Amino acid sequence: MRSAVIIGAGIGGLSTARALKRHGWSVTVFEQSGALPETGTMLGMWPAALQALGDLGVVEASRRTDGWAHIAAGASTRLWTPAGRTLLTAPGGADLHLVARPALLSALAQGVDISFNTQVVDPEQVSDADLVVGADGTFSRTRQRIFGAGFSARPLGSVAWRGTVQGAVAEYGETWAPGALFGITPAGPHATNWYASVRSDRTFAGPHLPHLQGYFGSWHRSVREVLDRIDEDAILHHGLFETPKLPSFVKGGTALVGDAAHAMAPFLGRGACEAIVDGATLGRCVGQASSLEAGLAAYDKARRKRTQRLVLSSRLMGRFAMLGTGAAPRNAAMAAAGSMARVIKPKPRSQR
Ligand SMILES: Cc1cc2nc3c(=O)[nH]c(=O)nc-3n(C[C@H](O)[C@H](O)[C@H](O)COP(=O)(O)OP(=O)(O)OC[C@H]3O[C@@H](n4cnc5c(N)ncnc54)[C@H](O)[C@@H]3O)c2cc1C
Repeated sequence: MRSAVIIGAGIGGLSTARALKRHGWSVTVFEQSGALPETGTMLGMWPAALQALGDLGVVEASRRTDGWAHIAAGASTRLWTPAGRTLLTAPGGADLHLVARPALLSALAQGVDISFNTQVVDPEQVSDADLVVGADGTFSRTRQRIFGAGFSARPLGSVAWRGTVQGAVAEYGETWAPGALFGITPAGPHATNWYASVRSDRTFAGPHLPHLQGYFGSWHRSVREVLDRIDEDAILHHGLFETPKLPSFVKGGTALVGDAAHAMAPFLGRGACEAIVDGATLGRCVGQASSLEAGLAAYDKARRKRTQRLVLSSRLMGRFAMLGTGAAPRNAAMAAAGSMARVIKPKPRSQR
């Protein structure tokens, strides 16, 4: 039986562990924390991630437990200015699948052997397993060990706050201002997700509510409605980083998955989804290939360019949303696009 050691029990590491186990591998996961987290915000699951969860055996039954939510298409999303002018209204096109990070981790961890309180100091000294997987996040030691300090995570010059508040709100969407944005999304029938970002080279010391009030307290009613419900103790705050473009996600018998391979700005909400797809793909590639080397090459081919494009798109999305100079013409263009979409309604097929 082939064996793997996985460094990190985050979404990427646990997805990989499940995938490898399903292909008959013996897997051990080393995690530096004492336990899986019990709190965390809701993550939106894109279709490819849902498909990968199905491949990993995280099926409908687990998705009906606490922490998972399915919101049928319907609620439209707005793009606002801080004064509350609507630039665009996007119709609620597709169903939304949401999962709280702890619920996702707990579903992925079922049946996986995790060694907690085990920090891997030197990934090259791990063991004589056939495969070592660096799933150790944005500041991955595995990445630095195999590609060097020149591939350390680089700061994006922005910070984020995020959390969940009780109750639904009347309207969802994102508000863009020069150097700042505030987003509101559903988090299930009785809760609302929020996130906020500002351009800043440093993170902020708590308490965080005063910072949020300072930046966003004078914004329109929907933002203030969320701000009024935020509990200081439930605010998460991070600097934002991304992984520099790696020449490969693989070196020798080591592979990188998730943020270790492609940490990205959160503005497209894709990082966790891509970590799941990485895990499912790596398991399938090494499980089906004639040799480990061929399987790892297939994984790199399937995942690297695709995720590196997302790293770039996420960064550009953040820049576009928080544009300083140029925000006025951008808003005018967005508003014009919104009006055109209302005027040019698609003709019924019979009239074309
Ligand atoms: C503000 C913000 C909002 C986001 N919102 C979304 C969203 O809505 N949707 C979405 O899809 N994604 C979102 N993401 C991205 C998502 O959170 C990450 O992409 C995802 O969690 C990456 O998972 P991972 O397993 O690769 O890394 P991590 O979650 O960082 O897990 C790495 C694990 O490795 C462990 N570890 C690290 N070093 C060692 C070591 N030396 N030895 C042992 N263990 C170690 C850590 O303790 C950790 O448990 C967001 C990110 C941010 C910052």
